[in-house]
Amino acid sequence: MSSFKKKIAVLGGGFAGIAATASLKEEGGFDVICFEKTSKYGGTWCYREESEEGVPSIMPTTIINHSKEMEL
Ligand SMILES: Cc1cc2nc3c(=O)[nH]c(=O)nc-3n(C[C@H](O)[C@H](O)[C@H](O)COP(=O)(O)OP(=O)(O)OC[C@H]3O[C@@H](n4cnc5c(N)ncnc54)[C@H](O)[C@@H]3O)c2cc1C
Repeated sequence: MSSFKKKIAVLGGGFAGIAATASLKEEGGFDVICFEKTSKYGGTWCYREESEEGVPSIMPTTIINHSKEMEL
């Protein structure tokens, strides 16, 4: 079997990018890198004190309640 890993670039570290990156890593056999243009992952769901052009942010009072944990 070949040890060659297909390189995959995921653009954007919002929820879609995080889920895609985690799924590809879980599947294995890929060399995955996620590019995020801001300093934090999470996209819309990440609270940013400073606004970023074209990237929405939740309010500081938003409470996120979810049942899963993901590691990038
Ligand atoms: C309170 C709330 C409730 C919501 N409810 C729903 C719902 O019920 N259903 C629904 O479908 N949606 C809902 N949304 C919309 C929300 O946008 C999506 O749920 C989800 O966050 C979209 O994820 P995404 O990864 O596609 O995009 P985003 O969260 O927008 O992430 C995109 C990421 O890509 C990065 N990026 C952009 N351009 C580049 C580039 N050129 N290079 C590198 N990185 C880049 C950005 O910085 C950002 O981090 C809700 C949003 C909020 C705040």
